[in-house]
Amino acid sequence: MSDKPKVAFYWCASCGGCEETVVDLEEKILDVVKAIDIVFWPCAMDPKYSDLEAMDDGEIAISFINGAIRTSEQEHISKLLRKKSGVVIAFGSCAVMGGIPALANLKNKKDIFKRSYRDSPTNVNPEGVLPQTETDLDGCRLSLPEFYDTVYKLDDVIEVDYYMPGCPPTPANLETAVQAALKGELPEKGAVLLPDKSLCVSCDRNETKPDDITISRIRRLTEVQADPEECFLAQGIICMGPATRDGCEYPCVKGNMPCTGCFGPVSDADQGARMIASIGGIIDADDEGEVRDAVSAMPDPAGTFYRYSLSSSLLGKKREER
Ligand code: SF4
Ligand code: SF4
Ligand code: SF4
Repeated sequence: MSDKPKVAFYWCASCGGCEETVVDLEEKILDVVKAIDIVFWPCAMDPKYSDLEAMDDGEIAISFINGAIRTSEQEHISKLLRKKSGVVIAFGSCAVMGGIPALANLKNKKDIFKRSYRDSPTNVNPEGVLPQTETDLDGCRLSLPEFYDTVYKLDDVIEVDYYMPGCPPTPANLETAVQAALKGELPEKGAVLLPDKSLCVSCDRNETKPDDITISRIRRLTEVQADPEECFLAQGIICMGPATRDGCEYPCVKGNMPCTGCFGPVSDADQGARMIASIGGIIDADDEGEVRDAVSAMPDPAGTFYRYSLSSSLLGKKREER
């Protein structure tokens, strides 16, 4: 039997982008698989949950779990992986902070089912049947995972050793984490495996960011021809750089798109609150009417400031119903 460290990859409520990061290692994946044994990766292999159950506790060296926790199956397998693994890394912003799936916390399960299975114009469901956890079919009882009312981040259901945000994390981020783990150079447990500084510190456009920015009105990208050299905020365009952790090499800003905040906040910060404070400090308005006018081009403040971090935010959830 191979004595290489065993590694698992698993996805919960996720788009698959984090799994794509593993594939995007390209030929470097050959170095990775030379050094490790991938023993569980439902996206690319055909392991059964019984294979995982049969492993010894702690037998897997590292599990990378991506995606948020939305169903009972995701909670169950995450707990199983926790038991079987020495180290668990919350991989990607959905696992770390709820990510895009957590925007569903602005609704609740009842609203989501109603929209998805009854009201959506493409539905054909005259009896209004909603998903059930158990149903009888041809004499067999079928079970499905329970859909939770709330989207949770991974550390709401299991203990997480390390965090690697990003939507998705970059292949370089993944390779660095794997190499650090193989060399026994992982930092203290609980760490985020990325620099603890904001994106603006690295961004090329930082030099064009005045010390005192003043804007009279937030502008949507569709309203202006964004200058490809100047700081977005100085142009009145919301860029989440001041409230977002560095580590992605800012591909969006290089492509003349403002940062939407996918690497989450720096340590101990609430991403949305920090960004609202930044925006509040630069808007030039004397009264409530002027403030309303200044922010009128921002139709979705929760989705703008907490696009990836709602499960870990001060905002949390619209309503709790479990
Ligand atoms: S973090 Fe982004 S890329 Fe990864 S699963 Fe979530 S939505 Fe997809
Ligand atoms: S606000 Fe955006 S464009 Fe400006 S320096 Fe920060 S990351 Fe760069
Ligand atoms: S620039 Fe912002 S949105 Fe783009 S990858 Fe980096 S953190 Fe994510």
